[in-house]
Amino acid sequence: MGLMAAIRACEAGFSQVTILEQRTDYTRQNVPTLKGPIVNYLEEKGITKELGIVPDKDQWASFASLEGALERRAIHAGVRILRGVVATDVIGHDLRGDPPNQRYKRVQIRISEWDATNKVAKPSTESITADLLVIAVGGSAANNPLVAKLGFGYDRLRAKNYMAYALFNLAGPQIPRTPEDELNTQKLRSLVHGRTTLQTTDSRYLLLSLTGLTKADFVNLRHQQIRLRSLMQTIVNNLFWGERKILEGKNSVQVFKVRLQRARTVASGLYPAVLLGDAALTPHPQTGSGLVTGFTGFQALETLLDDLKKLSTRTASGPLLAAYNQTYGKATAERALKASFTIADNLHRLLTELRNEVNHFPQRFNPLGFTQFKNTITILIEVFAWARGKLDEIYTSITAGHADYESAWSDQALMIWDQLDRAYVRLKQLTQDIELASRRIGELSAYSENRGQTEPERTPLRIVH
Ligand SMILES: Cc1cc2nc3c(=O)[nH]c(=O)nc-3n(C[C@H](O)[C@H](O)[C@H](O)COP(=O)(O)OP(=O)(O)OC[C@H]3O[C@@H](n4cnc5c(N)ncnc54)[C@H](O)[C@@H]3O)c2cc1C
Repeated sequence: MGLMAAIRACEAGFSQVTILEQRTDYTRQNVPTLKGPIVNYLEEKGITKELGIVPDKDQWASFASLEGALERRAIHAGVRILRGVVATDVIGHDLRGDPPNQRYKRVQIRISEWDATNKVAKPSTESITADLLVIAVGGSAANNPLVAKLGFGYDRLRAKNYMAYALFNLAGPQIPRTPEDELNTQKLRSLVHGRTTLQTTDSRYLLLSLTGLTKADFVNLRHQQIRLRSLMQTIVNNLFWGERKILEGKNSVQVFKVRLQRARTVASGLYPAVLLGDAALTPHPQTGSGLVTGFTGFQALETLLDDLKKLSTRTASGPLLAAYNQTYGKATAERALKASFTIADNLHRLLTELRNEVNHFPQRFNPLGFTQFKNTITILIEVFAWARGKLDEIYTSITAGHADYESAWSDQALMIWDQLDRAYVRLKQLTQDIELASRRIGELSAYSENRGQTEPERTPLRIVH
């Protein structure tokens, strides 16, 4: 999003546009869905051909190729790009207006080289002063002290989901399906949900929610790359494209947590600074909405830049920033509701799966404890179902224009987030020792490795002490 913002700023006539990028190269191979408006934007910039995509439809390209193409376009437009650097301080200049509406006219940014090996900033080497600072540093913004200094605070949902993605080769032989494959397909459906399958010119990409996993299962998968690769391989063989091989390299397969956080405001009240992209809201990748929501912010930024250009002072005034906040803040509230609905829905699936399997855990509980365990699962299932319903209601009332998004967010949505968090803490306490999915994952992996040769290995369901 930062590259797009910089290109647009040049187009709007800003003479000195600088990008500070922490990474020295673009290597992310995961693949976002590029919805129609984003594809049309890329077409307008003349970079659809090099990405191997066509306009007017949903398309896909890896982040690496997308970022590489946008970087070349940005350099061509006159953007100065500093790589391997971070901002180490921000200082306001020219305080204007009377309290409580005071606002800095410009912001000075101190820049340091980033030591990626030791993960520290070297002593500051340069500083630049800007009329407008666009912060598009991704989800790390919520933990960045400079973002806090600029006046941005975040609401965070502690309830999490687990997801995984893998990249596969484009072609492979089809192996005839067996009755065992059909059984495995059923087992897999209890583990995964919300699958996204995309194809780019280089690979096939599979992204899915691991809804049947407890924390213990997740930790196992994260620490056992071989098992994770095997699981993803089995999933792709059974549910999707037949025999495709996961590409070599650590980044070809990943398991990760989905954490949701939303900035309370996307325009600073004191500095000429705005948030854009994941810095404003981290998306739920299952809903494929990261770039879609970010693009809404980009469109609001286009208006802000055009309005600024009309002003001789180029001063990001309160009303201009308030307009940005209104448009983009509403979009992030809507998306956050959708994403938290998805989180609640997936946790509901996990609990339902746990209830189906509950008779496998009697040894862990005395008779009274076991009954309580089952009852608590049932209560939590109801809480997550209730939360889903409420979040959906709030979303509908905002999108239909029946409720003001800011008050619906702070008065209602945050209350549901609080309930979700409490239920999640209880869910984690209940399941922290239980490897609910590991037995099935072991069976499926063994079957995948020996497909058509031997019987799958049977491992007992394990409780960790
Ligand atoms: C595994 C995974 C799968 C996903 N799948 C999808 C999908 O299918 N569809 C979809 O639409 N979205 C998907 N997303 C979300 C998508 O990646 C983001 O929404 C999108 O990348 C947001 O763009 P951004 O520019 O806001 O942030 P980012 O892409 O995170 O870019 C932030 C940039 O800021 C740089 N940076 C960070 N900190 C600093 C600093 N302090 N100083 C300078 N530079 C800094 C980073 O190096 C990076 O280049 C996925 C996300 C993940 C993690």
